[in-house]
Amino acid sequence: MSTAVPAPVRLLLVVAVALVDHDGRVLVSERPPGKQLAGLWEFPGGKVEPGERPEATLIRELAEEIDIRVEEPCLAPLTFASHAYPDFHLLMPLYVCRRWNGTPRSLEGQAIKWVRPRDLRDLAMPPADEPLIPYLIDLLGP
Ligand code: C5P
Repeated sequence: MSTAVPAPVRLLLVVAVALVDHDGRVLVSERPPGKQLAGLWEFPGGKVEPGERPEATLIRELAEEIDIRVEEPCLAPLTFASHAYPDFHLLMPLYVCRRWNGTPRSLEGQAIKWVRPRDLRDLAMPPADEPLIPYLIDLLGP
């Protein structure tokens, strides 16, 4: 009897953040053309590089993508997504951040917008991001 060895699952660690403004709205960013899942709205963030602390990834990505500066103590972990895509398994901690320096603006050509937590449900988001929405509605209200 041959015993097939299952292929190892590729794990991808991506961090994401819900930036929350004074009106309780959350910032979402549209994945640009040419990227996987282009056109879907996501929470800002990105891949954690080997050796990088997840909070450092977020601080770096927020500066690179939307031109804001965040201090590490302002990043509060909320929950995490775990989603099996066909070619990798994504683990994605979601942080909440209410204080930053600068005004968010798109630096990489991506559309960004502020939405009420309940309106996240009407957005086309990556399947990994959708289960995070109820956590934000619980935390922030609709
Ligand atoms: O953003 P980036 O392309 O580096 O992310 C790698 C993969 O992680 C994406 O192709 C997508 O499948 C997944 N992802 C996601 N939700 C996000 C960010 C990334 O499902 N908010």
